[in-house]
Amino acid sequence: MAAKKVYDYLVIGAGSGGVASARRAASYGAKVAIFESGRFGGTCVNVGCVPKKIMWTAGSFHEALQEVKGYGFDVEVKSFNWNTVKQKRDAYIKRLNEIYERNLEKEKVEKIRGLAKFVDAKTVECDGVQYHGKHVLIATGSYAWIPEIPGAQEHGLTSDGFFELEYLPKKVALVGGGYIAVELAGIFNSLGSDTTLFIRHDEFLRDFDPVIGQTVMETYEAAGVKIIKNSGLKGVENNGDNLKKSLSMSFDVGTEGAKTAQTFDGFEEIIFAVGRRAHTKPLNLKVTKIKTDDRDYIIADEWQNTDEENVYAVGDVTGKAMLTPVAIAAGRRLSDRLFGNKPNAKLSYQNIPSVIFSHPAAGSVGLSENEAKKQYGEKNIKIYSSRFTNMHFALTEHKQPTVYKLICAGPEEKVVGLHMVGKGSDEILQGFAVAINMGATKADFDNTVAIHPTAGEEIVTMR
Ligand code: FAD
Ligand code: NDP
Repeated sequence: MAAKKVYDYLVIGAGSGGVASARRAASYGAKVAIFESGRFGGTCVNVGCVPKKIMWTAGSFHEALQEVKGYGFDVEVKSFNWNTVKQKRDAYIKRLNEIYERNLEKEKVEKIRGLAKFVDAKTVECDGVQYHGKHVLIATGSYAWIPEIPGAQEHGLTSDGFFELEYLPKKVALVGGGYIAVELAGIFNSLGSDTTLFIRHDEFLRDFDPVIGQTVMETYEAAGVKIIKNSGLKGVENNGDNLKKSLSMSFDVGTEGAKTAQTFDGFEEIIFAVGRRAHTKPLNLKVTKIKTDDRDYIIADEWQNTDEENVYAVGDVTGKAMLTPVAIAAGRRLSDRLFGNKPNAKLSYQNIPSVIFSHPAAGSVGLSENEAKKQYGEKNIKIYSSRFTNMHFALTEHKQPTVYKLICAGPEEKVVGLHMVGKGSDEILQGFAVAINMGATKADFDNTVAIHPTAGEEIVTMR
């Protein structure tokens, strides 16, 4: 074996967190190498946020084409060419892959292609070559899985498969009730697929304040998405062939004691979005002291330290707030601390805003009502809420509700949570997240002059 190559910083995984951390470390003069077994940019760029947002935008255009009729336009949608969008989307992503690679080159980060694994706590092997790092970052992300239910893995796709689809299925099923299932159901439905969403409880988006799940569900059902609640999948069969699938799904539907066996059929595709698992198995962590939880996520402290000295983890692989900006921020702050002479740099995991790209979009920052009650006591919480129809829909036939909920705590009414569903929420939330992060009170909101006529003005005029 050749002599080990020695680096200040080895980064495993060139996704959102790894690339951000590697580039920041190199900008301080550290000698950095980054390993990537797939495509540069990781999940977000290749099979996550970016292609998803493009498909969400396609769906939003289709919705808008229906809406403009109310505004006097005589528009006829003759067809929708899925492949045009897919090809242009793939080309867009290829350009992003190249930009990611070029940016690493500009910062003089050495790119190493292949699957990396530990051979000891500070040595990583890739393609038969060993690399020694004074510091090592694990940023290997997560992957989608399909439950071991008869026929599910054989006939089902994950979100990765969604991005490979060469056609818009006429009839599609989604299983799951988190971000991805809700987003993909909205995309399919807005593009015209007959869409059924199977959830195992009677609500979805259960990690959020209930106002979000309830309002999105109401708008989905009004828009024609079939939502089968309390459904437990038992099996999947293909009654067609591989050229033209006709998938049949059997479920137990209903609450405990009142379940019935039901079959739903005629699906061209089934997409599972039942959460993700950490990409840790190939890392050979057993040669280190690094601990993982029962779902293989790496246990890292608030400084992103693992149980192995000078080995760190950021992003999805830690299982905490699995969002691109979180991976990026944690990765950059870690490099600021290790190489940028900023010993106190670390990411606060409080008040992380996020948006669900449903139709309409929903967003949230801070505590849910239940979390606020637990933290501050029920009598110290004041809730403001507002429900209205955005003026966008003034002349349209179909109207979607907008719902805002502000959660305030203590006598000074500090704003500790904001939850919103409605057109434009995806863009409105960011600025309010800054205010909430700075400790704004309801009085600060009230003292801010409204921008009229907008939806967002409602947030500073709630009583
Ligand atoms: P990743 O981006 O997954 O990068 C990990 C990289 O490590 C991968 O490229 C992988 O190939 C590589 N790797 C793994 N093991 C090894 C190894 N042993 N050796 C070498 N390389 C390895 N987040 C948002 O904020 N907004 C959104 O709108 C959003 N939409 C999403 C939609 C979908 C469908 C999905 C699946 C996710 C979405 N996310 C979104 C989540 C976001 O994509 C992730 O949180 C983010 O990509 C995590 O970044 P990461 O760096 O931790 O991991
Ligand atoms: P989530 O963790 O958000 O949701 C997983 C869902 O799967 C839950 O609703 C859960 O149900 C359901 N589930 C789990 N096991 C089963 C099962 N065996 N059968 C049926 N349903 C099951 O995961 P996602 O895969 O949707 O997304 C992964 C992460 O990616 C998100 O947590 C988020 O951090 C990130 N992401 C962010 C986006 C954004 O910012 N816009 C978009 C997409 C992803 P239940 O509620 O009933 O327990």
